[in-house]
Amino acid sequence: MDMDTTSTRAHDGVRTAPRALATEAVHAGRDDLARQGLHAPPIDLSTTYPSYDSRGEAARIDAFATTGAEPDGPPVYGRLGNPTVARFETALARLEGTEAAVAFASGMAALSAVLLVRGSMGLRHVVAVRPLYGCSDHLLTAGLLGSEVTWTDPAGVADALRPDTGLVIVESPANPTLAEVDLRAVAHACGSVPLLVDNTFATPVLQRPAEHGARLVLHSATKYLGGHGDVLAGVVACDEEFAGRLRQVRFATGGVLHPLAGYLLLRGLSTLPVRVRAASATAAELVRRLAADPRVARVHYPRIGGAMVAFEVYGDPHEVIAGVRLITPAVSLGSVDTLIQHPASISHRIVDADDRRGAGVSDQLLRMSVGLEDADDLWSDLDGALGRRPERGAGNCASNHVAPALAN
Ligand SMILES: *Cc1c(COP(=O)(O)O)cnc(C)c1O
Repeated sequence: MDMDTTSTRAHDGVRTAPRALATEAVHAGRDDLARQGLHAPPIDLSTTYPSYDSRGEAARIDAFATTGAEPDGPPVYGRLGNPTVARFETALARLEGTEAAVAFASGMAALSAVLLVRGSMGLRHVVAVRPLYGCSDHLLTAGLLGSEVTWTDPAGVADALRPDTGLVIVESPANPTLAEVDLRAVAHACGSVPLLVDNTFATPVLQRPAEHGARLVLHSATKYLGGHGDVLAGVVACDEEFAGRLRQVRFATGGVLHPLAGYLLLRGLSTLPVRVRAASATAAELVRRLAADPRVARVHYPRIGGAMVAFEVYGDPHEVIAGVRLITPAVSLGSVDTLIQHPASISHRIVDADDRRGAGVSDQLLRMSVGLEDADDLWSDLDGALGRRPERGAGNCASNHVAPALAN
């Protein structure tokens, strides 16, 4: 299937000609604007929606309780839905090639809602592949929402399934090692159990998991979808049936997205393809330079590319963090500026040290989210932060470097 073409479904259900991803990014969720005489999408900050027809409202509430479908017309109350947030949901669903998407206050709120949907059906067992984002790992390991997790590798998924398995969870490329999972193979191994793919790192620009058989595509929209480091959000792209259950859980538990965040996310999507492609080109150039550098033991960079780079240093990784000046030493990723962090200290601190190392997150590993700065400026900052080069002939030689494309 052509990765750059999405098949579109207009609001009224009529199929329109497939449009390229770049076109959808700037038009999806905005189809009605020109007819309304608007250019920028309106922000609806209403918490409640007046109605003189309480019989009609009762029917709309009953309908929501039955299917979780978005109410026709005004949403009754802000926790049931919001028109500005709905624009973002429509757009993301188009980009991911799913029927629907449901937005939440954060990526963790989105994952929590998925676990609650399955748990409420008595399907509390989860099969998951490490590494996952540190807090996702923790949420599953701690069983905070009543789930029980079996950790396995991709080849072990089929054997790990039980009658009460409600979900299989993978990240690809994974946070922070950038390890990739064969999504089609895992989706096959799942049988009828829904596969959730955390697509935060790849974004729909590089990978659309629903095309490979994933039923649920999760994003920390805080990262690339927002893209400017100023919105916390999460979203699940999926079929309409699952979306209905997610909306009901969102209504019941309250992890809603603020309309202003919905507006910023829709704006973020319009530049997503451009941002991801530009940052990925810079990341690939930095990977080339890191892989040839004698201070760097190993570089991790996924086959599908992207703007995330991980590398292991021979020296003290804390010194690299302390040494950057242009690059921002901070957790999170996917912003216009370049960020670097030490997963063992920060993003994956919450994961037990043995589990963390077992998943390939070495104490020498640094994770960098490449932004839109000039590649030479970034390299000069990294070069300074990496410190003194080893004496010629001493220490480690370049042959220790794993070819970047194979370093997962
Ligand atoms: C950040 C992140 C999350 C959690 O998202 P929040 O928006 O911080 O709640 C989940 N998965 C991945 C891969 C992430 O990077």
